[in-house]
Amino acid sequence: MIADSASENGSKGWIFNIQKFSLHDGAGIRTLVFMKGCPLACTWCSNPESQAYRAELLYARGRCIGASECDRCIPVCKTAAIGRDDEGKVAVDRTLCDNCGECARVCPSKALELSGTLVSVDDVIRTVEQDGGFYVRSGGGLTVSGGEPLAQDRFVENLLAKAQSRGLDTAIETSGLCRWEALRRVAPHADQIFYDIKCIDARKHRDATGASNDIILENFRRLRREFPRTPVVVRTPIVPGLNDSTADIEAIARFIDAAGGTSAHELLAYHGFGEPKYDRLGRSYPLCGTPPPSEESMAILREAVRAVQSARDRDQSA
Ligand code: SF4
Ligand code: SF4
Repeated sequence: MIADSASENGSKGWIFNIQKFSLHDGAGIRTLVFMKGCPLACTWCSNPESQAYRAELLYARGRCIGASECDRCIPVCKTAAIGRDDEGKVAVDRTLCDNCGECARVCPSKALELSGTLVSVDDVIRTVEQDGGFYVRSGGGLTVSGGEPLAQDRFVENLLAKAQSRGLDTAIETSGLCRWEALRRVAPHADQIFYDIKCIDARKHRDATGASNDIILENFRRLRREFPRTPVVVRTPIVPGLNDSTADIEAIARFIDAAGGTSAHELLAYHGFGEPKYDRLGRSYPLCGTPPPSEESMAILREAVRAVQSARDRDQSA
């Protein structure tokens, strides 16, 4: 977990991006704030720079101008982590790099960038309110995503409370893997919660994400029990080999029903758009070469969700 005093007491939080004009993560036009740090390491993660609980250096070799034109980063690196490859481009030794970001500060081409900034609640609110007119007209607002927002629950609680006090609609996107206390404190400040349920099979969940789903499922049950009026949208990324059978999806839909239902259950097709970021972090992409699910298979899975919901509706009206 993130362990500096500012983020522990909630006065500041680590973010890695703020994205404006989103249309898919809550009502109306929204600003998305992406928090750093996640207890999961999903094989399909499209934001791998979100996973670490600290700032992290990204390097895009294709953007490096090269030795003959530019030499700015090498002298500023105090750990001697930067050298040259055979073609004169920069090569970063990540065993020596401490992610200080000095090289990124001087890099003119943005080949080197530091992902991760410590910000205050007021910093974020100022940025979000630059688009206040759009929120009023569209019913939009602020969505906090990640990473896992509830890994920095005190900051997120403060941020959402402040946003609500200023009349902004609020939402969070969570993996559900957090202390119940964190979710319990943040939930009252979220007008809507997007909650990932990826897989009911515990072994497959652990293999694909690095963690058990026990806490995720239990937190969902408690969320529906203790906050029955909060709109909760369940999202399931459909990942080949993990949960792309109708049996997998029916198991999730039945679990949701038994736990108290949801406003909507959205199935999102896996995509590999995040793959280049792995390269920039010096990591290999676990799902390299995996094709996304076809439109036809997504339609079959969505129909499986509808069938479970229809069966429930029939049972309730009988
Ligand atoms: S982030 Fe800091 S330690 Fe890492 S390569 Fe850049 S200057 Fe060197
Ligand atoms: S400062 Fe940027 S462009 Fe210049 S050599 Fe370093 S990585 Fe390449």
